[in-house]
Amino acid sequence: KDGAKTEEKKVLNVGTEATFAPFEFMDKGEVTGFDVDLLNAVAEEAGYEVKIDNTGWDAMFAGLQSKQLDLGMAGVTITDERVESYDFSHPYFESKTMIAFKDKVDIKKAEDLKGKKLGVQNGTTGQFSAEKVVGKNSPDISKYETAALMFQALQGDNVEAAVTDIAVALEYQKKNPDAGIQTVSDDKAFEPEYYGIVFPKGSELVDEFNTALNTVLDNGKYAEIYKKWFDE
Ligand code: GLN
Repeated sequence: KDGAKTEEKKVLNVGTEATFAPFEFMDKGEVTGFDVDLLNAVAEEAGYEVKIDNTGWDAMFAGLQSKQLDLGMAGVTITDERVESYDFSHPYFESKTMIAFKDKVDIKKAEDLKGKKLGVQNGTTGQFSAEKVVGKNSPDISKYETAALMFQALQGDNVEAAVTDIAVALEYQKKNPDAGIQTVSDDKAFEPEYYGIVFPKGSELVDEFNTALNTVLDNGKYAEIYKKWFDE
């Protein structure tokens, strides 16, 4: 900001949970995905560099609380509860709950989750959606640390259905064509959700990132990144 050409960009520490393809996942030892490309574009526009660590979901929120992390980028849904403890950017992606299950299981709507063994990623909106249908402390819900472990449980028939985010369920289905995975959503039961970049409460970065996000949405960069990850 002093105009010196040699000025080094500030490096921001970012946490994520990198088993959430296509948003963030590990590829050859690097975190990659839609969120990574978007964050890099927004950060560059705002004049920062980012260092993204696969901290895991819970540690990401803990790192934001303690301010060891500058921000989190992990397909994080902006919820009423979370905005009490964290700041969020403007929404950058619309999502909703999707149920993934095997061919042999019959699920057509949210109500059909009742009485089934369910897998969710702990502390996510998938968990909250499942709880909305079968009750908060239902013994039928198994909570997994990562999305990968949740899908493993589905694959190994430890659970009958996984409750997660639409794009992640569809990606899993697409990447595992022989697994006999079905998916269904239920717009009557589950509300639309919106992802935001998450910051410690009171972070000065929020305004700068919102301005940069608007630019990336306006100048075609967002569309380019979207196309890369979501168009065939
Ligand atoms: N969007 C969901 C949530 O915020 C899941 C995010 C994730 O598992 N990375 O709870």
